[in-house]
Amino acid sequence: MAASPAPELPPGGFDAEDFRAQGHKVIDWIARYLSEVEQRPVLSSVRPGELRARLPLAAPEAGEPMAAILDDLDPLIMPGITHWNHPAFFAYFAISGSPPGILAEAITAALNVNGMLWKTSPAATELEQVTLDWLRQLLGLPAELRGVITDTASMSSFLALAAAREAAGLDIRERGLAGRDDLPALTVYASEQAHSSIEKAVIALGLGQRNLRKVAVDAEFRMRPDALAARIAADRAAGARPLAVCATTGTTSTSSIDPVPAIAEICAAEGLWLHVDGAYGGAAAVAPELRWVLAGAERADSIVVNPHKWLLTPIDCSAFYVRDPALLKRAFSLVPDYLRTAEGDAAEVENYMDWGLQLGRRFRALKLWFVLRSYGRSGLADHVRGHCRLAGAFANWIDAAETWERLAPVPLSTVCFRHRPDTGREPLDEAGLSAHNAALLEAVNASGEAFLSHTVLDGRYTLRLAIGNQATRERHLERVWALLQKAAADLA
Ligand code: PLP
Repeated sequence: MAASPAPELPPGGFDAEDFRAQGHKVIDWIARYLSEVEQRPVLSSVRPGELRARLPLAAPEAGEPMAAILDDLDPLIMPGITHWNHPAFFAYFAISGSPPGILAEAITAALNVNGMLWKTSPAATELEQVTLDWLRQLLGLPAELRGVITDTASMSSFLALAAAREAAGLDIRERGLAGRDDLPALTVYASEQAHSSIEKAVIALGLGQRNLRKVAVDAEFRMRPDALAARIAADRAAGARPLAVCATTGTTSTSSIDPVPAIAEICAAEGLWLHVDGAYGGAAAVAPELRWVLAGAERADSIVVNPHKWLLTPIDCSAFYVRDPALLKRAFSLVPDYLRTAEGDAAEVENYMDWGLQLGRRFRALKLWFVLRSYGRSGLADHVRGHCRLAGAFANWIDAAETWERLAPVPLSTVCFRHRPDTGREPLDEAGLSAHNAALLEAVNASGEAFLSHTVLDGRYTLRLAIGNQATRERHLERVWALLQKAAADLA
């Protein structure tokens, strides 16, 4: 029996004309969205389950026209979007996209390349090598470093600690950790202010959560090298085997910069892997006057900087550099017959599947290439220095206001502060101050005009304003300052 002819287009597929027409509509939609985003509430105010209740319980049986899908975007999806593109998005660390990055993402989707092997798209591998080398130069990092793009800093730091574990030469790849009485506790060191991704990596690598040593910080929230050295010495005395230190340049709560030169000295003396987490702060090094943030990082074994945080590249794009890729490959490379290639066997090329856990890889280098070329070194430097200048101005307003106090230095573009109301009565205790500032944050965020987040520093509830959006101007800071003061007055 003759097979029935295949349909000319897959269900939901377009011919070229349809694609062009729908594509124009999508680009128009994006252009309108980006130009009007400031008019939208920054923080979504939908209730949990609201979107789910409005969607069918199962996918449609028959394909629907694109026009119908696009028509649903505004009423269904947009109310549940928190606008990371809004110039008054001051929460967490911004993920600061850009028009060149958005266009590159569209092309990436069209090419739909899987860059697992050099052969599966030579341009994907080679552009990744080139763009990461460009970025390395922009950051002033040493020429020996080799890079790979991962999805997030969490994955990059995981790879760093996996390489550190492999470098220890304990045959863990082959024999594992369980059931061995020849292994001591393997300890990793990061400051009390390090990002939780370091702890997650320690957990995932089977090193044991309790073997992450959270090293004390100084009054400016930077790792104390003396405390690090003491902790390593105590661990060695107790029979543990120290493996690695993670220093952070730009911690999540306050953007403090660990003293990497002193930490590198300790790592060298102790034979420990040094990983630098510059997920956010490392980007500042594109401005020559801010290059000090990566001082000492030239001695690191591995470094992560996220272009998707502060370098205008849409999420996800994390640049992970390692001094000795052979260690990373020793940890992860596993080449089944069906993935062997002549170029790989001849070691003529890198196959990035050998550099980490995942096989399939998006072509993320394309958007980084678009961004680096569109802005150039000077554009990127202006971008980060502008944000640091705005943060400095905001910090000055806080410092000059009688009932407000700053809770951390401002080395980059993040300001930590709180309100201390003058009640005319007994001053509020810590619990009272926490409740007051939490209510203040709630009020400002509920306005829809700005979105800030919080942290806790030395047990003190802290408001946190982080600047990272390309469109943020002084007027946005003036407005959020007015909102904060009004909320404080309303709560009095
Ligand atoms: N490291 C630092 C210092 C961070 O601030 C963050 C997130 O804000 C991360 C790592 C994790 O980043 P990612 O979301 O890329 O995993």
